[in-house]
Amino acid sequence: MKHSRSYPKVTRRWYRPLEQECPECHRTLREAMTLTRRTVITLREVIRLIHAGYRCPDPQCAGHQRTYRSPAADALALPGFTYGLAIVLLVGRLRLGKHQTVNEVHEELLERLEPLEVRISRREILYLFEAYCTLLRESREAKDDQEWLAQAKKNGGIIVSVDGIQPEKGNETVYVVRDALTGRVLAASQVTSSETAVMKALLAPVGALGVKVLGTMTDAQESELLAVQELWPEAPHQVCQFHVLRDASKSAFEADKQVKTAMRKKLQPKVRAVR
Ligand SMILES: [Zn+2]
Repeated sequence: MKHSRSYPKVTRRWYRPLEQECPECHRTLREAMTLTRRTVITLREVIRLIHAGYRCPDPQCAGHQRTYRSPAADALALPGFTYGLAIVLLVGRLRLGKHQTVNEVHEELLERLEPLEVRISRREILYLFEAYCTLLRESREAKDDQEWLAQAKKNGGIIVSVDGIQPEKGNETVYVVRDALTGRVLAASQVTSSETAVMKALLAPVGALGVKVLGTMTDAQESELLAVQELWPEAPHQVCQFHVLRDASKSAFEADKQVKTAMRKKLQPKVRAVR
């Protein structure tokens, strides 16, 4: 879906990885490329984003080939999609969970997106529903994706990121498991219980890939923590700020500001020295 449209209300955002330094040699990671530059429509805002990839600056380092990504940027939307993941999940939920017709889903989405002055076509609803079905199938496909497996090998392994999203208030959650290094979806499942056993079942196909797990990332939810710790006790674990902050735009803004302040503090002495 290529959109050359312009949207009246756009928030501009820049995303970088959570990692600050290379885990192999501890040098500060540097911005190496723009991974994507795109527009994403969420239920709250239209975002014009730049997603920056970072790398270890030392060409001799074993970790130099690895590009670090922002899990927050990857979580916003599936690759190639303008409508965000939350909208894909909502379409799936309305269609399958609430048994709404395509026309009813279309009506509801038009209403939900109206404050953003965004229009969505009926055809796009069909397309998003198809994306929802594909997403829930992904886990069976990762193990046959030779191109991706080769990339994961080159990276020395994967970083497993677990993200629980509630399309609507209630107890149904869609869990999306990604490799944070490539951004690829490894598993996705809609569950009504978030017990550790359910989490482990969700993560089982990831374990079966036979790829080294370099680290894990989850939000602060205990069952997620326990599941990744039981499955990959050796891998370092990180609690993701973005999971916690994602839905609160005010705090996200605060977090942005904090990152910027931290970056400025870090950069200022260097800039001064150069001057
Ligand atoms: Zn390094």
